[in-house]
Amino acid sequence: MRRVVAGPEIERLIQLLAKLPGLGPRSARRAALHLVRKREELMEPLTAAMGDALEKIVVCDACGNIDTRNPCLVCADPSRDPGLLVAVENVADLWALERAGAVTGRYHVLGGTLSALDGIGPDDLNIASLVGRAHQPEVKEIILALNATVDGQTTAHYITDLLRDANVKVTRLAHGVPVGGELDYLDDGTLSAAIRQRTTF
Ligand SMILES: [Zn+2]
Repeated sequence: MRRVVAGPEIERLIQLLAKLPGLGPRSARRAALHLVRKREELMEPLTAAMGDALEKIVVCDACGNIDTRNPCLVCADPSRDPGLLVAVENVADLWALERAGAVTGRYHVLGGTLSALDGIGPDDLNIASLVGRAHQPEVKEIILALNATVDGQTTAHYITDLLRDANVKVTRLAHGVPVGGELDYLDDGTLSAAIRQRTTF
């Protein structure tokens, strides 16, 4: 049997920290101990920051992004191209694309992918609102930046069909050799996609 080493308040802190992605019970224990040691410099401001964030977090009505304002900072940014929408599965993907700084337009967060296995249908995702936005006259292109998984690609095909009537160009991310990648290490599916989607030099 595992011995409890601290009072219930600290044990609970450890159990909650262990639910964070990337933290197992061992690292949660280490993080909790670090917080306990740095009560004033870290634990107090962290508690306050979490309280503030919890109070202010809202989902953007326009794109489904999570922010502390509605419309979100990305939607409210006037320097963005109103003609381009990038559909992503979740907010993590939006953040990843923003980190890369490669998107000049705005986003649409679908909230997942279609999945027969998990019982996720079109009505469970923000698909209808994407089709609505696609019909806005200023929107010229929709990039389906979905994961290169079976569910991601099924969802992309489904959305492409729904967008046939909208006057927009529908594109998707290229599949192929990662930047800095070596051919010898790639899987067969990636290699053949890279050959099929080759571009002119
Ligand atoms: Zn937004």
